[in-house]
Amino acid sequence: MTASMPTPSPYRGDFLREVEREVEGGEWVKMCMQCGVCAGSCPFGPHWEHTPQKIFMMIRAGKRDEVLTSDSMWMCTSCYNCVVRCPRKLPITTIMHGLASHAHRQGLAPKMQPTRAFSLRFYDNFKRTGRVNELKLTLGLYFKDGFVAGLKKAWEMRHIGLGLLKAGRLNPLELVGGHRCQDQKGIAAMLAKVEQIEQRAKATKQEG
Ligand code: SF4
Ligand code: SF4
Repeated sequence: MTASMPTPSPYRGDFLREVEREVEGGEWVKMCMQCGVCAGSCPFGPHWEHTPQKIFMMIRAGKRDEVLTSDSMWMCTSCYNCVVRCPRKLPITTIMHGLASHAHRQGLAPKMQPTRAFSLRFYDNFKRTGRVNELKLTLGLYFKDGFVAGLKKAWEMRHIGLGLLKAGRLNPLELVGGHRCQDQKGIAAMLAKVEQIEQRAKATKQEG
């Protein structure tokens, strides 16, 4: 009787292919030789759930949920330490941010992750006027967990707020309208173009 060969799980390669297709820089993941230099170079890696090296290994092992629900890639500060040292020249920073964006689009990113919360509010804040309204952004972050939590946070930070007010770095009138970029249409066109370029890059990858 011949022993049957184990059937390889289609899930494994599927996730690597998904990353190559959907994640910026994802086509580089297969080049990682697991040397561990990035893990040893990342100033924050030891404090994360998964280092970049481990994430790349998990992608190749098909661990889709574990990777996309992790908050590790949201912690990347873009210091580029890993990139300059990687012997295979992987664009690690780009991949980390690409994975975070992909996890967000897939609805798998950890909801309470602070970097994610900040990124979403920052984008929403600036896309309306082309300028970041720091007062609205800050208050939005203070009050994101509810009114009482917001008041508590604002009270804790009152000395900094007053200091900024005295130094002329905080204008309460920014709460009602605020300054804006003159060319609003230009900003909207620029953001639409970015979206278009991203879609085109994705389509090119799929064709390839
Ligand atoms: S330094 Fe580069 S090759 Fe080495 S584990 Fe990290 S990504 Fe892979
Ligand atoms: S760019 Fe990100 S992943 Fe690379 S060393 Fe810096 S914090 Fe770590």
